[in-house]
Amino acid sequence: GPRVRFGPSPTGFLHLGGLRTALYNYIFAKQQRGTFVLRVEDTDQGRVVPGAADSIEDMLHWAGIPPDESPRRGGPFGPYQQSLRLDLYRAASEVLLDRGAAYRCFCTPQRLELLRKEALRNQQTPRYDNRCRHLTPKEVAEKLAQGLDWVVRFRLERGVEPFQDLVYGWNKHEVAEVEGDPVILKGDGFPTYHLANVVDDHHMNISHVLRGTEWLTSTSKHLLLYKAFGWDPPQFGHLPLLLNKDGSKLSKRQGDIFLERFAQEGYLPEALLDMITNCGSGFAEKQMGRTLEELISQFEIGRITTHSALLDLEKLPEFSRMHLTRHIENEGLRQKLIQELQLLVEHVYGDQQVDREVLEKEYVEQVLLLRKGHISHLKDLVSGNYSYLWVRPLVSREHLQTISAEVDEIGKLVLGLMTKPAAVWTIEELNKDLRNLQKQTKETKYSSMMKLLRLALSGQQHGPSVAEMMVTLGPREVCGRIRKVLS
Ligand code: GLU
Repeated sequence: GPRVRFGPSPTGFLHLGGLRTALYNYIFAKQQRGTFVLRVEDTDQGRVVPGAADSIEDMLHWAGIPPDESPRRGGPFGPYQQSLRLDLYRAASEVLLDRGAAYRCFCTPQRLELLRKEALRNQQTPRYDNRCRHLTPKEVAEKLAQGLDWVVRFRLERGVEPFQDLVYGWNKHEVAEVEGDPVILKGDGFPTYHLANVVDDHHMNISHVLRGTEWLTSTSKHLLLYKAFGWDPPQFGHLPLLLNKDGSKLSKRQGDIFLERFAQEGYLPEALLDMITNCGSGFAEKQMGRTLEELISQFEIGRITTHSALLDLEKLPEFSRMHLTRHIENEGLRQKLIQELQLLVEHVYGDQQVDREVLEKEYVEQVLLLRKGHISHLKDLVSGNYSYLWVRPLVSREHLQTISAEVDEIGKLVLGLMTKPAAVWTIEELNKDLRNLQKQTKETKYSSMMKLLRLALSGQQHGPSVAEMMVTLGPREVCGRIRKVLS
């Protein structure tokens, strides 16, 4: 099968844009029984953020798209971290130096800065003038003997290398004219992205490079490097950008696109995967609610379009609700949710008087089954509106009396239902019963009676139907709460 890689630079934490690149790689690989590699591209040492590489790998696991080979898992082509592969890049740059495909450049930072300033003054894009390309072997030897600092630059003899992109089709980019010969090995012995990327993709046997569209114009350069080494290049497919709904750049400063945050807030990863592929392309139909397996089976790389994908974060609750419903309906997945909700309840209400066995599995499970489709997030169930599920509400009799003068009468009528056999303690049956009870009141309208009962049972004016509340709480608890307001 194909071998693909996700090559994040650990200069920050994984966000939705990065997740999307990783996901397309993952589903492309899994669809064809291929291998998904995580390679940490940490050649820009000054920008490495401590902990980021580990966190990125953690988040891929959390998202359900773990790499087959990675820094932590290892694999046959390791190490999977570029800073541990410096010998390989140095050897590769020597091969190119020997072949005359690369050369040492001794230009000082001061000279490069002058070039840059002059270009800007003339309103031109700064580019290296390839001066050291023309040094004779003797001049090079002299400069080395003087102990001058040097970098290695790649000779871009031809500036264009047309290629067929899996997403963008035929592409031609003038690279030589634009920036001059690029640095491939820096003074500190670290490679630049271009060299490390090509050397690693070759040595790691990568067959397909699926990456962000910002690299599209660099691909010619990479292909020229493959040529200079005499290696077969992989196939390239560039993925359009993920932007905010209004077309602006996905801002990392907003802080609301990082995966760690979604994980901490208890989102189902599948809701995120669904959301970031739904707004993009790669599928015959636009449809919500796909599982990871469905993403894998329905993905078609040829359907990725070249326009940017727009992310509508406001739709996340909807994606979340669909996937939460699916998890609740699935017996096995439901068990995990039960445990999570038990922990949440303990966490939020643990120090209050939880007088009943609200932490019992059967109770929590019933809450989930009855509320599915109404909540987009497990956390919703421990918010203020739902506190009645876990702790008894404080309800004043005076408040109830402003709704109807018949508080005692209604209370007694409801207590009469306690003798109903458990088998008919259902929403349907209770709805009928409540209708009948209302007919026995003197002057209370049905809507007022419901308002009164909802308040007595939950302390809330809004929420599920009274019958649903009664089913959830069960006859004993309903009885207790009603008795409390009758005095
Ligand atoms: N390290 C590069 C990035 O962070 C990877 C680009 C590529 O996949 O070639 O975007």
